[in-house]
Formats: sequence, C-alpha cells, structure tokens
Amino acid sequence: MLWLRKGLNQPMKTLTTKLSSTLPGVSPGRPAPTPLKDAPPETICPTQALREHEGVMDVDYARCIHCRLCHQQNAKNQMAWEEGHQWTQMTSPKLPDAFHHSVHVRIVDAGDCGACLNELHQLASPVYSLHRLGIAFTPTPRDADVLVITGPVTVSMKEAVEEAYHAMPSPKRVMAVGTCALSGGIFASSFSIVGPVERIIPVDIAVPGCPPPPLALLDAFQRLMGAHSEEQLAERVRT
Ligand code: SF4
Ligand code: SF4
Repeated sequence: MLWLRKGLNQPMKTLTTKLSSTLPGVSPGRPAPTPLKDAPPETICPTQALREHEGVMDVDYARCIHCRLCHQQNAKNQMAWEEGHQWTQMTSPKLPDAFHHSVHVRIVDAGDCGACLNELHQLASPVYSLHRLGIAFTPTPRDADVLVITGPVTVSMKEAVEEAYHAMPSPKRVMAVGTCALSGGIFASSFSIVGPVERIIPVDIAVPGCPPPPLALLDAFQRLMGAHSEEQLAERVRT
C-alpha cells in the first residue's frame, strides 16, 4: 500500500495548454529555417526535408522526422532548433460555432508505427484530460465530427479510410497526424503505401511531427473548435 499512499500524497496536476513546451519531455522541438552560410546541407537529411530558398535553408515540416541530424552534425550550417508545440496547419475553416464546446473524434490507424497513436491516447490521460475541453473519442465514424488519420495509408487500410470518411455526417473535418500521414515519412517509398492521406481523402488540418507531442495535438483540436490564441486556449481550460 506504500505506493498508493505515495500516489495520493503526490497527485498529478492536469496540464494547461499554456504549459511551456520548453520543459523537458513536453515537446521535441523542430528545426527552424536558418540562413545559409556554406554548402547546402540537404544531403544530411534522411527524408529530404531541407531545401535552399533564397539564401535560407527551409524545412518541409511534412517530411521532417525530428532526427536532429541537421542540428548536430553540420557545424558550419547547423540548423537552428525551435521549441514550441504550435505546429498546426489549417487549410479549411474551423468547425461551426455549434461545435465550440463539443467535438467527437474518430481515429483511424492507417499504418501507424504506434507512436502517433500513443501520443493521441495520451490526451485522454488525466495529465492532458481532453474531455474537459468537450472533446471525446468515438468508436464510430457515424458519430464523428473529426476524422483523425495516422500512418502513411497502407494498401490494406485505403478502403477503411475512405469508408470512415464517407460514413461521417457533415460538417466534418479530416486531421492528418504525423509525418507519415502528411508525406509517407520514412515509409514513403514502400510498395505497400498508397498515401499520404491527401491522395485518398481531403485533408483540412495537418499536424506535423514524428510523432507530434500531445500539446501539438491539443492545439490542433482547439483550432478546429475555434480557439486559436494562447488567451483563448487558456480561458477554456479549467486549472
Ligand atoms: S531534423 Fe532530421 S528530418 Fe528534420 S530536417 Fe533535420 S535532418 Fe531532416
Ligand atoms: S509519423 Fe513517425 S511516429 Fe507517426 S506513425 Fe509515422 S513513423 Fe510513427
């Protein structure tokens, strides 16, 4: 019973979305566009995420797997590294106001390695507690407002992705989570991949990362629901 008493005496406090993502373990960070000083370091990147553009080394976040090779192994052109977790890219409007306090989410694993799914499932833990924001996971796409796809979309999962999308009521949004879902990631050249997701169904919101940390995912859901400034996010979180 010692561990139980210890746990009760040291309760875990639910995080707020204002939590600093510079704390260890909260966000892995990612490379930032960096002025080019010497020879271009594209060859360092295993996923060809680096491109030179007008004297700046730019990063294609849909391809970056956060391996840090460009940050550590090229002293002359070492890429800057930014902390943070607000990585969401929205290409469609947020959901209507009626969804401001209630959104149901169906997750489809379309060939995920397990890490993106794991980060999503962390959101339901007491630490992140997405339920307090009115977000709930649902087992059926017929009840879902948001379809979350992880993984590069394998041949065998293509039909499941299409069926889930067509079974959802409107209005609906599709969230592609992780580098695999956005570009195929490290699996892009595999014979068993038909993705990325945008080749199969329209994507409304992209969350890059390999995997994206839970706070990046929480940020994405909040944007879909219409809260997109730190103040708005903080207002909605009961601490
Ligand atoms: S962190 Fe790795 S994958 Fe990302 S741009 Fe740098 S080298 Fe490429
Ligand atoms: S993006 Fe990275 S963490 Fe997510 S499924 Fe692909 S390999 Fe795994």
